[in-house]
Amino acid sequence: MARYTEAVCRICRREKQKLFLKGDRCYTDKCAMERRPYAPGQHGQGRSKASEYATQLREKQKVRKYYGVLESQFRKYFELADKKPGKTGTNLLSILETRLDNTIYRLGFAMSRAEARQLVNHAHFTVDGRKVNIPSYLVKPGQVISIREASRDLDKIKANVENNASRTPPKWLDYDAANLTAKVVAVPERDDIDLPIEEQLIVELYSK
Ligand code: SF4
Repeated sequence: MARYTEAVCRICRREKQKLFLKGDRCYTDKCAMERRPYAPGQHGQGRSKASEYATQLREKQKVRKYYGVLESQFRKYFELADKKPGKTGTNLLSILETRLDNTIYRLGFAMSRAEARQLVNHAHFTVDGRKVNIPSYLVKPGQVISIREASRDLDKIKANVENNASRTPPKWLDYDAANLTAKVVAVPERDDIDLPIEEQLIVELYSK
């Protein structure tokens, strides 16, 4: 499977925004954006006025990297979003939010989306009682996501659940902390997505 091999903190620095790609470290002063909040490379601290195209491209790259999605898949999500009624940009974010890896991260079962992807790959979760090991699986209203019985005692998962106990999952997920399950109760709306994203720029980019 194709994946990014670039040092992830460089991605945040290039986008000039904390994208929380590294889990725990992102919340400490070891975060590269706390220490060097400028683009990497020789000209990283220089000022430059970005063109309209560059601004749109950067926004798309930022969202793609935030969710850890490759270009071809991101384009497919856009096409899917465009076919749905409503605003394409909102539909796109809503689709990305319902990826199983993102859902696992939102529930606090993983410290980052990258870790969530790995845990899903290792089949630690079920959807409606069936094992699902596909990070791009899109969850739907009515479905129930759980940590598999056999995985509940894993140190990593136990620690994540404990560390994230105070985190409030978004309202489209009805989380039952006692049973470590969550029901998808709605399609995510724009205000459920707490990201500093101007999705209209992505729509404009792909509409050229
Ligand atoms: Fe981004 Fe996290 Fe690295 Fe900070 S520590 S630069 S938020 S990936």
